[in-house]
Amino acid sequence: MAGLFIDVEVSNEAAADPALVAKLVEVCPVDIFAVADGGRLELVEENLDECTLCDLCVGAAPEGAVKIVRLYE
Ligand code: SF4
Repeated sequence: MAGLFIDVEVSNEAAADPALVAKLVEVCPVDIFAVADGGRLELVEENLDECTLCDLCVGAAPEGAVKIVRLYE
């Protein structure tokens, strides 16, 4: 799943961890993360391009679990 400018990659393990999912929902200032039915992480596609590259989500997750990918130069 990707926006026009930004893609957010979350490992399967991280997306299934309720504590981490709650943390990601809390830290992102532009609501890119949400909780899906069943408690898994859901990415809010229409908000992806609002990402400010603040890296709060990257810092909240174990190393490598969340990646912000710029789709532009
Ligand atoms: S880098 Fe910041 S704005 Fe972008 S998804 Fe992570 S927490 Fe949200």
